[in-house]
Amino acid sequence: MKIRNLALAGAISLGAVGAGLALKSFLPQKFPVLHELEQPEKMLDMAAFPAIEVAFLRCGSVTWPEAVMVRGTSLLAPCQVGYSAVLIRHPKATFLYDTGLGGDIYLFLREQSLFFRSTLARFTFEQSLAGHLQRLGMRPSDLDFALISHLHWDHIAGVPDIPKVPLRIGRVEYEAAHLDRNDRRRQLLRGLLGENTVTLFECSGPAYEGFSSSLDLFGDGSIVLVPLPGHTAGNVGMFINRSNGSRLFLLGDAAHLAQNYLLPATPHALFWSRVTWNDEIARQTLLNLHHFSFRHPEVTLVPMHDAQLQEACMRVEQQAGADVR
Ligand SMILES: [Zn+2]
Repeated sequence: MKIRNLALAGAISLGAVGAGLALKSFLPQKFPVLHELEQPEKMLDMAAFPAIEVAFLRCGSVTWPEAVMVRGTSLLAPCQVGYSAVLIRHPKATFLYDTGLGGDIYLFLREQSLFFRSTLARFTFEQSLAGHLQRLGMRPSDLDFALISHLHWDHIAGVPDIPKVPLRIGRVEYEAAHLDRNDRRRQLLRGLLGENTVTLFECSGPAYEGFSSSLDLFGDGSIVLVPLPGHTAGNVGMFINRSNGSRLFLLGDAAHLAQNYLLPATPHALFWSRVTWNDEIARQTLLNLHHFSFRHPEVTLVPMHDAQLQEACMRVEQQAGADVR
């Protein structure tokens, strides 16, 4: 009898600890945030940069509870996660940052596990990358290249819609992805990359805006890549400095939504652990982005899954285009 009581008490307290831990996982996080301004940085002369047009091409979306994407927020509030490519028209090249979703994406995903398809690969398909290009009166051959922020399926899933368009991928990311390994995930990645030629780049230039190194893509300071590791080993962000619109900073998946770097807060631990290559490095990158956004309110930092922010950016881009016309 005593033993049964003891077991019951143990089970109740274990249950209470479990419930406590589960509850804690939805509470806000503590990050070591410093808000003292460091020495003022040199302001860029935006008029010296070329005019660059930017369009977010949303190919799909999914709705998750906000607390899944941003720890410590509401479990009841829905938030929309987008799957997009970004079309960038620069005087020296027309290119994509990430590729959204191709028309045959479900064919590529069908070999994946049901668990994967019903969690990380669950989305509502909206418009293929090819459909977006057609709407804009473009052919894939009008693209000079597609630059990939990192090698997760949802960032290269539009590549089959742009066969023959060269891909530019960071060397760190490409080597860390181990595409030669033979598991289901690598088969999916290899299938999506298809026969497109791949050129590897390295962010081996000087530190830029507080980030450890950089690559000035056209040598004019207008498109600058910086490493934002943690989500993957080689996730790469892209600054767009231009004379015809606000300064943009595309983040790949260093943050999933703006709230991740604004608060700062990671997604919920269950989601975060599934999608994060290195917890410590990813948190440091998130913190760097938090500080950068605080120092530079004039720059719009855009995570590649923040559907709402991308819609707001598109409204501003369309208004700017209408003002020019
Ligand atoms: Zn992603």
